[in-house]
Amino acid sequence: MRLNGRRQSDNVEDRRGMSTGAKAGIGGIGGIIVVALITLMSGGSLTDVIGNVVQQQLQSQVQEQPGNGQTEFSEEELQFAEFSKTVLAGTEDVWTEQFQKHGLKYEYPTLVLFTGATSTACGTGQSAMGPFYCSGDQKLYVDLSFFTTMGSSLGVKTDDNTSFAYAYVIAHEVGHHVEYLRGILAKCHQKMSRLNKAEANKLSVKLELLADYYAGCWAHYDDAQYGSLDDNDLEEAIECAQKIGDNYLQEKAQGYSQPETFTHGTSQQRMYWLKKGYETGDWNTTTFEEGDLD
Ligand SMILES: [Zn+2]
Repeated sequence: MRLNGRRQSDNVEDRRGMSTGAKAGIGGIGGIIVVALITLMSGGSLTDVIGNVVQQQLQSQVQEQPGNGQTEFSEEELQFAEFSKTVLAGTEDVWTEQFQKHGLKYEYPTLVLFTGATSTACGTGQSAMGPFYCSGDQKLYVDLSFFTTMGSSLGVKTDDNTSFAYAYVIAHEVGHHVEYLRGILAKCHQKMSRLNKAEANKLSVKLELLADYYAGCWAHYDDAQYGSLDDNDLEEAIECAQKIGDNYLQEKAQGYSQPETFTHGTSQQRMYWLKKGYETGDWNTTTFEEGDLD
């Protein structure tokens, strides 16, 4: 993306180098990065960006402790942090305007950068879960090493450290925040708690695809205003969407996929909704059908 000289958000909490005493037992599945989703706890719900399969109660209340004292970062870590703050500022501008257009106020979420594990209003967050959003504190939690993992474990190819594929990850989490502010997240989680697992998973998929769609919507307006997307950007993000599809991850991990366990949508669905958001930017479009959230 071309973001040079753009504003960086101040709504960032840098907890890198701090560690927690938590030892939450989230393990990998078949060697891919884990993936926990929808932990319904008092104080909010937790929703991740990638993946499927694991439902996990997380320990709450962890004491932050002085960590490894990391204060120096590699060139790549610096770039990813600057990039994330600039993308976050871009989402603040776009969503403020979109909310205003509909007579609503956009409240900024906070981006928390952390390494390893950190406490959240939704329990302990682990970097192994991938980036996630907690509605209990309206914060997005990102361990920037995930961006490196995207290339190594998921095989997402990017031109450089400013690819839209990385922005898509941030914008997807912001998408959950938009769902929260529009009341969709709470309604959906309430409904899910009354359903059996297979039915609840179907709704989870819609929630995730909507966050993908909102990520696309953000890019639609950001690109329109700043011409921020490079030639390869959209393809790289779409390829990323493909590689975090449930069917793709499951096939890679276990050799076959189980559609009834999908929580984030197939590669095709994720690519479709991200692209549709980018093409239209339409506030009124939704992945939910009538009656889904009643
Ligand atoms: Zn998500």
